[in-house]
Amino acid sequence: MKFLNLLILFIVVSFNVNAQNNSALASNRQNNTTYVIKNVNVITMTKENKVIKNATVVVKENKIHSINKSIPENSVIIDGINKWLIPGLIDMHVHTLADGAPFVIYPTKGPLVSYKTQYNMTPYIANGVTTVFDLAARTEHFGQRNEIIRGDVIGPRMAMAKVIGGKKSNPIAKTPSDGRNAVRFAKEEGYEFIKVYTWLNEETFKAVIDEAKKQNMKVVGHIPVAFEGKPARDIFIPHFGLIAHAEEFSKQTDDYSYKKAQEFARLAKENGTWLIPNLTNMLSISQQATSLQNIKNLQGFKYVHPLMQSKWLTSNGYYGASEKLIAYYNKQYDFHMLIVKAFKEAGVPMVAGTDAGISGVIWGFSLHDELKLLVEAGLTNEEALTSATRLGAEWLEIDDKIGTIETGKFADLILLEANPLDDINNTQKISGVFVNGKWINRSKIDSMLSDIEKWNNANKEKYDWKELLNSLKN
Ligand SMILES: [Zn+2]
Repeated sequence: MKFLNLLILFIVVSFNVNAQNNSALASNRQNNTTYVIKNVNVITMTKENKVIKNATVVVKENKIHSINKSIPENSVIIDGINKWLIPGLIDMHVHTLADGAPFVIYPTKGPLVSYKTQYNMTPYIANGVTTVFDLAARTEHFGQRNEIIRGDVIGPRMAMAKVIGGKKSNPIAKTPSDGRNAVRFAKEEGYEFIKVYTWLNEETFKAVIDEAKKQNMKVVGHIPVAFEGKPARDIFIPHFGLIAHAEEFSKQTDDYSYKKAQEFARLAKENGTWLIPNLTNMLSISQQATSLQNIKNLQGFKYVHPLMQSKWLTSNGYYGASEKLIAYYNKQYDFHMLIVKAFKEAGVPMVAGTDAGISGVIWGFSLHDELKLLVEAGLTNEEALTSATRLGAEWLEIDDKIGTIETGKFADLILLEANPLDDINNTQKISGVFVNGKWINRSKIDSMLSDIEKWNNANKEKYDWKELLNSLKN
């Protein structure tokens, strides 16, 4: 007994020591090189969005060390002439590919398919996406985040939301008490946010949100189907702070008028609810419904894991939709655009998110599509950029650390060849990316991408989605 107590004590003590060593762990990820970006135009993305022309930016360790101050000795100089520096982008709605087994095959078996974490993260980094919000995070994502923090993998900062649903998702909560327990358990497991899901009944939905508030966890998510046919104001519950897609509103109504969009906007404003419009996903669904060629043509398709390529092309749930359904998708998309317009008019903050990982929506690449669509919907270039930088950081409550270019913040930065305030497409002209102070120049980005392409080409034959499903049945 005494021995057992001692053992427990030892484990606890060593755990605490590990916790104290956290900063040492993080320092592995830091870079000892000091960088100076000279003569660069800085788009700060602060509230005033001061643009500092021809500036000198020093990146030291993993922070923005100074702007327009002296140049430290022995630093690496990066030429910023005619280039533009913006904060790293934030995708507020992703589903990062991660290992996981659908059920226990036999003890010690583990996942059926295992992914190389770097290959899952490279498309984000190559596109300047330096922070992501995973809206269906699992234990495996914590593992990925640790690999990134240790410096073994170059990847984005990852915020984690745990899904709580009424069915088909884990954990299932059918009663308010189930819901409250699920929230407390998610908190203990280390999740930072709660995602409420489609199948929760009304009482459980409200209990989950209430418990999350007590546990100091913010809530993002879907509007449950239980609210269909109810007045719009019922959807807006205090502390339900972020709606995962505009589709949640379009599912609540047959009235796709601007007036209806304005009603949702007014209620969202009153309740303090923010929105992830997620235009990319809706457009992608309507395109996949008519042709799979649209997926094959995507710029980032060759970097998608072969198993997912196979799934998207051979088991695509959207492809082959009826004329009626296609017309419905198109109508929804038009309503999405009106929602963005109305929310802008009402002053409701919107954050850019893409549902990356859903078929046809490719990690990292999709955020640039979203920026373009937000501008098409009526945001200015600056407003679109704000939605993918400062505002995302604000909702996640890490705006003292990322989201703008200011001295003391983490050095998550994108160096662009042209000014995105002139043309939002310029966010794709990436000359290099700073990820937590680590400089990844264009040729490094290209070689990281080509590593994935080579691996995919060499391993394509081994991954067939339908075969994998069949193997599970046997
Ligand atoms: Zn999603």
